[in-house]
Amino acid sequence: MKFNRRTHTNGELRFKDAGKTVTLNGWVNSRRDLGGLIFITLRDRYGITQIVFEPEGDKSLYEAAKKLRNEFVVSVEGVVRTRPEDMVNSAMETGEIEVIAEKLVILNEAETTPFPISDKTEASEELRLKYRYLDLRRKEMQNNLLLRHKMYQIVRKYFDSKNFVEVETPVLMKSTPEGARDYLVPSRIHKGKFYALPQSPQTYKQLLMVAGMDRYFQITKCFRDEDLRADRQPEFTQIDVEMSFVDTEDVFEIVEELMKILFKEIKDYDIELPLKRLPYNEAMEKYGSDKPDLRFGMEIVNLNEAVKNSEFRVFKDSSESGIVGGLLAKGCAGYSRSKLDGLTKFVKELGAGGLVWMKVKEGALESPVAKFLSDEEKEKILSAMNAENDDLILIVSGNKNKSLNILGALRLEMAKRMELIKPDTKPSLLWVTDFPLLEWDEETNRYYAMHHPFTSPRVEDLDLLESDPGKVKARAYDLVLNGNEIAGGSIRIHSSDVQHKMFNALGISKDEAEEKFGFLMNAFKFGAPPHGGIAFGFDRMAMLFADKSSIRDMIAFPKTTSALSLMDNSPSNVDEAQLKELHIKIAD
Ligand code: ASP
Repeated sequence: MKFNRRTHTNGELRFKDAGKTVTLNGWVNSRRDLGGLIFITLRDRYGITQIVFEPEGDKSLYEAAKKLRNEFVVSVEGVVRTRPEDMVNSAMETGEIEVIAEKLVILNEAETTPFPISDKTEASEELRLKYRYLDLRRKEMQNNLLLRHKMYQIVRKYFDSKNFVEVETPVLMKSTPEGARDYLVPSRIHKGKFYALPQSPQTYKQLLMVAGMDRYFQITKCFRDEDLRADRQPEFTQIDVEMSFVDTEDVFEIVEELMKILFKEIKDYDIELPLKRLPYNEAMEKYGSDKPDLRFGMEIVNLNEAVKNSEFRVFKDSSESGIVGGLLAKGCAGYSRSKLDGLTKFVKELGAGGLVWMKVKEGALESPVAKFLSDEEKEKILSAMNAENDDLILIVSGNKNKSLNILGALRLEMAKRMELIKPDTKPSLLWVTDFPLLEWDEETNRYYAMHHPFTSPRVEDLDLLESDPGKVKARAYDLVLNGNEIAGGSIRIHSSDVQHKMFNALGISKDEAEEKFGFLMNAFKFGAPPHGGIAFGFDRMAMLFADKSSIRDMIAFPKTTSALSLMDNSPSNVDEAQLKELHIKIAD
């Protein structure tokens, strides 16, 4: 079909263009037939322009305009006219003008869309994902992708300016599961063998350091076959970074400057550097989380000392073998019974034995357990909690780690209920440091690397790796924004000897290590520089910068939480012949 190519986009025309003959291409965004005049608005990525069809003009043009419906694709030629002052639409960037149509070509008709293409939508996410190309026509989604694009550009420009080299690493690699499950790709040529999709380019970026690239970055897809949670995707994007001849401080410096630029350019917000650093233990004890949200206080208070001689058994036992931890909800003593029951249910669902609440009223403690507590104990609790009249104290007790985690979740829940985070609350960006190197798993009875098996132990803890592995601290760090981990990394092991010790601590035998990671260990024998790095979860970071709550909104074609693509229906069945070629039989 022959049509006139656009002279302007739909976001471009202004007062100064009055009198010009222009051609616009785009989608019909809306159509109003006012008996005489027909108004349509024409939309493209750049904006919306109003077009007017007048009945007095060309009859066939007017008749054609009558046929227009939403989402028809058209080319319109016409003359730009300024709108009378009282008709100026200040909500529209092109609101000072309209185009009086002289020619119309319908380039494509459109069926009624399953949901309206509007800024805000009531459509279910399922429907939006099924018709993602329509969902992406919406301004909100286009803005998300544009923001994401802007972030890519800032990131690339930044790393380039700092002498980092962008290198692509393979998508088909060796399966070395440690942590998440691998996505596997069967080999046709090598019967019975499989590639894995990378969970991250970790080993490659380390090999690039051995190769002398010195500073590497990549914006890259990673794949993890995990049970998905709301903010996870089976494939996601990392900004992956690695540097040679560095220590933690160098990585921090590079990352902090990038964050400063991103905050300035995206949010026009000046973050203060250097960023706060919080050791893992302190994060857990004060906030019950290794990714604490410090936009509000409400620190966990350890009440062990206050209740150590309590007649109330639960407190006494927990203070001896675990923790009695309290949170102070300022001014919440008015909470009704049903609200408190709701909170009890909340902590029980997380595995707590129960929730003890205490209301501070006229200097006294009102609580179901008050009768078990001596005056001295009550006094001690009040003073440890720094509680005043009208405050509510919430106490969880039991196993230390478990209770801290539950208190951490309760802290966030209370912040939500108390609306402690306001739209103008300052963002909280910090490092969490000094992670344990290893984590004991009761189920499999072995240690797992808390970060990954290539993370270097603290130099002073090296000897402990064999004698008391659980005590070893890692040279690892996470970057946390508003209670979300947005990046994580470490200084790496760069000697094959230490790497062997690490595998040993992980219960990975020499043979297994050789089979899985021999290539890396070998590389370390040929002069590996000290190196370290970090990787950002790009989708999540973009989500936070866009003030959205779902990473799916930041991804053009995401999967559902059950790893389905509703648009193209993947995963899907394949032909018997395809399977045969891959030497695969589906078991019943
Ligand atoms: N590869 C690591 C990850 O994906 C990040 C890093 O250590 O650089 O978590």
